Amino acid sequence: MADQSYPKRCADPTRNEMLSFLCGFYPGEAEQFDWEEAIYWFAHDWHGGQASNLYSALSTSPFHPGPLANGPEPGGMGEMLYQELEAEFVKGPTCQIQWIDACGSPTPDCNPSIGRIRTKDRVQQIAGRGVRFEASPWFHVCKAHAKQMQEPGMEIWEWESER
Ligand SMILES: [Zn+2]
Repeated sequence: MADQSYPKRCADPTRNEMLSFLCGFYPGEAEQFDWEEAIYWFAHDWHGGQASNLYSALSTSPFHPGPLANGPEPGGMGEMLYQELEAEFVKGPTCQIQWIDACGSPTPDCNPSIGRIRTKDRVQQIAGRGVRFEASPWFHVCKAHAKQMQEPGMEIWEWESER
């Protein structure tokens, strides 16, 4: 089971998008049955509710698993295709740090997260008084941003690596 603090996200491809993606793999070996098995289980495991494309792919699938099955048959072509779907559509967390560009707009950062940072629980001297700051929530951070945390002036930040 995935660690809840590092949730993976799945895109919501349609049945046709998954079919056209899968048809590029194992030409001459994978058959319609294998594609349907992979799509069924992928949609089963990752759909985001009844309004999602994956739920629609699941509920209209011509594939019908055996009563004891809980995933594609281990070692089979369907399982290999299932893994291709995961590699394509399921992503780990990305960096949550945003730059502010010259127009004042935040610029999203889609780089993969390698760890998390937050500001420490600390007391800072401001105008001669000690002011208490509580630790911030954790933010996912990419490699480039994590490196900046080691520079002078960044002492209020603390860091933990992705597990
Ligand atoms: Zn970043």
